[in-house]
This record gives sequence, C-alpha cells and structure tokens, in this order.
Amino acid sequence: NSSLHEVDPDVAAAVDAELRRQQSTLEMIASENFAPVAALEAQGSVLTNKYAEGYPGRRYYGGCEHVDVIETIARDRVKELFGAEAANVQPHSGASANAAAMFALIKPGDTILGLDLAHGGHLTHGMKINFSGKLYNVVPYHVDEKTGLVDMDEVARLAREHRPQLVIAGWSAYPRQLDFAAFRQIADEVGALLMVDMAHFAGLVAAGLHPNPVPHADVVTTTTHKTLGGPRGGVILSKQELAKKINSAVFPGQQGGPLEHVIAAKAVSFKIAASDEFRDRQQRTLDGARVLAERLLRSDVTEHGVSVLSGGTDVHLVLVDLRDSDLDGQQAEDRLHEVGITVNRNAVPNDPRPPMVTSGLRIGTPALATRGFQADDFREVADIIAEALKPSPDTAALAARVTALAEKYPLYPGL
Ligand code: PLP
Repeated sequence: NSSLHEVDPDVAAAVDAELRRQQSTLEMIASENFAPVAALEAQGSVLTNKYAEGYPGRRYYGGCEHVDVIETIARDRVKELFGAEAANVQPHSGASANAAAMFALIKPGDTILGLDLAHGGHLTHGMKINFSGKLYNVVPYHVDEKTGLVDMDEVARLAREHRPQLVIAGWSAYPRQLDFAAFRQIADEVGALLMVDMAHFAGLVAAGLHPNPVPHADVVTTTTHKTLGGPRGGVILSKQELAKKINSAVFPGQQGGPLEHVIAAKAVSFKIAASDEFRDRQQRTLDGARVLAERLLRSDVTEHGVSVLSGGTDVHLVLVDLRDSDLDGQQAEDRLHEVGITVNRNAVPNDPRPPMVTSGLRIGTPALATRGFQADDFREVADIIAEALKPSPDTAALAARVTALAEKYPLYPGL
C-alpha cells in the first residue's frame, strides 16, 4: 500500500515534473486538454483491476455488477449528449474506434474516401502505412488550394468515379466546419455508408456550438480527450441497426477486456459536458481561436501579418501558414517552446518542406479555455506568439509574459 513516491521515486519525479510543466507553460496543442480532477480520480481507481469482457448484462467474467452500472451510465450519457441511438464506450482510443467501426462496416479490399493526411485528414482515414491504407483501397480527397476548404465538387466526382463503400468525413487539422448533409447526399448517391470522425470537434458539438453529425451519419466516432476534455479514449455512436455489428467489431473483433477505469472517467466527462459551465468553456474556446486568427492576421510580423489557412477559423484551432516565411514549422515550434507555449508543427496542403519540418503550425485553444482564459487573455497570447515569430525576439521578456498568464489561471492547484 505504499505510495508511488515510496515505491518508485524515479517515475514519481517524472510525473511531478510533467505536472509542473503543464502548470507553468501554455498548452496549445489542439488535440490536448486538461481532464478534470474527478475524471483523474475515476481513472486512478480500483476499477483498473477488473476484467469485464463483453457488455453490461452479458459479461464473460463474474463480479461485473458494479462496472455494469458504470458502463451503462457512460453509454446512456453519451447517447443523450449527442442524440445517438446506440453507443459503444469501450474503444481504447480514437484510432481503435475508427478501426472497429471500419471493421464493422466494410471488408478488406473495399474502397474508402477520406481527407488526405497532408490536407488535414487523420492517419486512420487512409494513410498508406496505417491499417486503413493497407486494408482498404483509399481514394483521398483534398482541400481547395485557394479557399483552403474541402472541395466538395471533388468529393462528389471521386465518389461517382470510384463508387466507395465508405465515405469518411472528419479531420485532425482543418479550421472550418464540414457540410455533413452534403457528405450524406454524396454517400447516398453512390450507395456508400457515411462515417464522421468528430474526434476534434466533439466538445463543440456537445455544447451545441457546432453542427451535430449524428443525424447525418451511419456511424460517428470520437475521442474523449480533445475538445471533450475527458480521459484518453474513444467512442463509437451509431444507429440502433448497426449496434450489434459495432459491438462485436470492438469486442471480440478488436479488443479484449475494456478499460472500466477509463470508462468511468468517460462517464464523468460526459456528465460535465452536459453542463452550462462546459458550454461557456467551449464558447471561450471558439472565441479564443477567432481572436488568435484575427490578431495573427493583423500583426506586424510581416507586411501582411501572419498568414492563416482559410483566412480564419470556425473551430478550436488556427493553422498558421509559413510557406512564405523564413521560419519553417520546426523552427517556429521551437521558438514558441522557448517562450513556454506548446504547439505542434503541421504540414500545410502542398507543403514544399519535408514532413518532419513542415511549413505550418497547428495552434489550439481548448486547454487554455479549460484553465479559464477569456478573450483578453487570448489577445495577449496571440501577441506573444506574433512577437515570438519575428526575427530575434526578446524570448526572456516573452517567457515572463507567459508565466504571468500561467500564474493568473492556476492549473490543478490541489495536486
Ligand atoms: N481521429 C482524429 C480525427 C484524430 O485527430 C485523432 C487523433 O489525433 C484520432 C482519430 C486518433 O485518436 P487516438 O490518438 O486516441 O488514437
């Protein structure tokens, strides 16, 4: 019964250092967030000890009466949150949710249409060396070079030409909303199923601040740790008629025992996601991203400011375009790291630089909104970023401004 510090001081020290890093820097990786203490508590509970292969009421192990309660609560809450007929809360991650959903819907060798990775899609939407690229015949669609928006004419043309069995709508790096009704229409025209991967924007949907894909799609997958702000994990939502297939694709198709401690933390975060406070947080997330885009565009870093893809944002992230800048994605990421702002470099469409370097930055506001940041604070953040991207910035002065913001909104004060 000894504590982590007593049993393993090396691991404990690294965990403590990571907590201090999260507290003292500004987290702007668009796919990250801070799980609430209640979710951390559920995830760190004795539920980690329990095997529960199967589903509530139909388990392959004894002693599941309490985890059944928890998994049922999680399922009911997420169905209610998104207006879905059926939910599977067992996928260990977003990638495994997608793998299971595709396993349920299509056969190896079938054709899928997905947004090109280099244009903002996810690995699981058809990247060559991902399972999706190896098992399926992938036809990628793209964003329009001029507008930066998904080219729906191309999606329709490719669908008619290749007759896919599955159309995937969703993204990891895209600053606008997708037209789910248009995707549905295209899928119907060619007899394809439609899967929407809302991993990034699920929190905005839960708050009613982004169109809900659930009424349009056969299947909707998501992670629970991005804008939703819960523990790391995945969920699959579907129509009732697909529920059996999807459940069997998750278990025994893809996974063994579910992580009931994570499912408990998911349940907690779904409860929080239905609150007014969560809606306010998502609104500040959106407002912050808009402020950031506007301020970067109007900054004096260059004569034309800092370029952002599609000219702005409707979601929780901004994509900085460094194609015309001397600074590449790696250098810009390092520069911001130096002042205490964490972002990730990101390829822009038709990126002239190699994938490990890139010509872009993906900057997200969810984690800072969770800390409590308001529009004024995001203005200050935008100005720090713009200053940091200029030649020879005063990094010590910028780091002090970052520290002041971090101290204004203490993170996990009790930990
Ligand atoms: N789907 C999308 C759109 C994502 O952006 C991501 C993660 O970045 C995933 C799926 C995969 O989630 P995970 O990292 O939990 O496997």
